[in-house]
Amino acid sequence: MTKNYIAGEWLAAAEACPNINPSNTNDVVGEYALASATETEHAIAAASDAFPAWSHSTIQARHDILKAVGDEIQARKDELGRLLSREEGKTLPEGIGEVTRAAQIFQFFAGECLRVAGEKLSSVRPSVDVEITREPVGVIGLITPWNFPIAIPAWKIAPALAYGNTIVLKPAELVPGSAHALAEIIVRAGVPAGVFNLVMGRGAIVGEKMLSSSKVSAISFTGSVPTGRKIAQSCITSEPMKKLQLEMGGKNPMVVLDDADLKLAVGCAVNSAFFSTGQRCTASSRLIVTEGIHDQFVAAMQERMRGLVIDDALKAGTDIGPVVDQSQLDQDLTYISIGQAEGAKLVAGGKLLKREAPGFYLAPALLTEVSNQMRVAREEIFGPVATVIRAKDYDEALELANDTPFGLSSGICTTSLKYASHFKRNAEAGMVMVNIPTAGVDYHVPFGGRKASSYGSREQGRYAQEFYTSVKTAYTFEGNGP
Ligand code: NAD
Repeated sequence: MTKNYIAGEWLAAAEACPNINPSNTNDVVGEYALASATETEHAIAAASDAFPAWSHSTIQARHDILKAVGDEIQARKDELGRLLSREEGKTLPEGIGEVTRAAQIFQFFAGECLRVAGEKLSSVRPSVDVEITREPVGVIGLITPWNFPIAIPAWKIAPALAYGNTIVLKPAELVPGSAHALAEIIVRAGVPAGVFNLVMGRGAIVGEKMLSSSKVSAISFTGSVPTGRKIAQSCITSEPMKKLQLEMGGKNPMVVLDDADLKLAVGCAVNSAFFSTGQRCTASSRLIVTEGIHDQFVAAMQERMRGLVIDDALKAGTDIGPVVDQSQLDQDLTYISIGQAEGAKLVAGGKLLKREAPGFYLAPALLTEVSNQMRVAREEIFGPVATVIRAKDYDEALELANDTPFGLSSGICTTSLKYASHFKRNAEAGMVMVNIPTAGVDYHVPFGGRKASSYGSREQGRYAQEFYTSVKTAYTFEGNGP
């Protein structure tokens, strides 16, 4: 059984659960520990005990550890990418790409350790000096989803450690393998005992314990809106209240205007809607297409989708791997039926596929004649299912794009500078994309959304310090007496 890492030791748990390959359900990646509430408490206590020393460690020490982690991930990207694709089902190039991203994030935050700056200002009062500094927050609980098994843990762990916090990481139950491999690398890089703890297990047990512990100062969560809402309530009612960062779902629009480059628009839509099996919070699940190009766009999408290879994630030439598990597959199929019952037309895919080994294979689905009020256009499906919504003109397309409970990423394909500029200013989303897929971002700039998609400060880049540090304002009287 693969163990948890608590207080500087690898510890077996009483319970374990199999990590199943969605491309071949006969293939068990491994048996991974499921931690109990007591083991979680142990990890939290260890992180709390380690905090005073780590929060005063030198920035050189933190830099060296993060750099070593990034370098080892980079050196082993093919092997780690394979593990990731085997447990999650994204294609091997996507798996290797995600692992590379994790390495880049650690390398970026290694540099950020050396750039933590404060401010020194003049006071409004005579002979008084004001300094603003940033300090670590404390023990941070990190709760991550299954769809980015290494990149999301990386973009939480790296800044948490860089700014002097200690950590308890709870990865998603479905994909513990990549988080476990990452933990081994972090341990090997020389992180002191208790500074980093890995507690694999269930949300209702490990997650809840982290939320109820008075020793945890902050929670950074990525996952669905219902879980995020529960977590927010716990953080606010717990004693003491916890600092909170939530990254949640999306129902991202991609607007295609009459003047778009059709080939580029279809490329953006296929990439955003279906790559990584559509299981990305930034996926384009609403393709909002203006009248003049609508039919041509749908026909070109059907043509392009016919050529997609859906197969084992590890096979060379696969464009799209399987859905992650049976329950996500059931959800995708249910939404396809809901859409059809609401009056949408299924014009491509949407059927189960048989491949060499038993797996959760679904042909990416395209639903047309969708209205923005249908459930398939309002609720996050989180699979390879895209809707096409017809719009009269740019103004209506923008209105439809913004008419959603979510606000993560919003895209437009157009050759018009006027519309591109207007869209950038008026899209109600944390990230706006012009002639580029809604999914796929840089690691050195902020990531996050608005409305139901995000709560709290941004992740990634320099902006990560807002969450992972606490600001202190210090006044010094430098005269002889007030
Ligand atoms: P989920 O909400 O089911 O689970 C996320 C994590 O929360 C898991 O580790 C789970 O074990 C844990 N959890 C569940 N119940 C809990 C509880 N009561 N207390 C504490 N922790 C608990 O989400 P998921 O199915 O793993 O991931 C898919 C969702 O994640 C989608 O909605 C997707 O849009 C979202 N997501 C968002 C982003 C982003 O950055 N905005 C990125 C990736 C995924």
